[in-house]
Amino acid sequence: MGRVPREAFVPPDLVGMAYDDAALPIGDGQTISQPFIVATMCALLELVGTEAVLDVGTGSGYAAAVLDELARHVVSIDRIETLAVRARRALDQTGHADVEVRVGDGSLGVPDRAPFDAIAVAAAARRLPEPLYEQLAPGGRIVLPRGGPGGQRLVRITRGPSGPVETASLACRFVPLV
Ligand code: SAH
Repeated sequence: MGRVPREAFVPPDLVGMAYDDAALPIGDGQTISQPFIVATMCALLELVGTEAVLDVGTGSGYAAAVLDELARHVVSIDRIETLAVRARRALDQTGHADVEVRVGDGSLGVPDRAPFDAIAVAAAARRLPEPLYEQLAPGGRIVLPRGGPGGQRLVRITRGPSGPVETASLACRFVPLV
């Protein structure tokens, strides 16, 4: 995270708040996640640098950049094209041109780039979308905020030899997965 300039991923009028440990608005009703939460998600994914990662909910592109520092390859997808275009620019400007940014419904995963060793979901869902689990490599991990507007918890789901293995982490609050 020390290598990723967060100010490149926030709107120009909020650059002064880029290093606050807070989520910030990025337009289209969306937010750049709180740094502490990005760090927690990355820690739960236990990346060693060799992984193919899927980042669902590109938003500003900040989490994709952090994941790019920790893994071999990152594919990031958002349903809002204007955000994806802006994220692409910020990723290019900060040395993360290798991150592949897609526009589309991330709850369907990115089948043509699967399997993934790790999947980070930055939008809350009541349950894990099945295609995401199916696109996980054996031993792969997904971290997602599970729940609705009333309350969510960050959970890690690992694709184990005899099925999903779940670990609950922090309470959190994300925008909904649409
Ligand atoms: N990781 C981002 C934070 C993203 S906020 C960052 O570091 O800035 C959540 C994002 O998820 C929003 O940009 C929203 O457009 C996106 N989103 C919500 N539902 C989605 C879906 N079904 N597919 C892809 N993206 C989705």
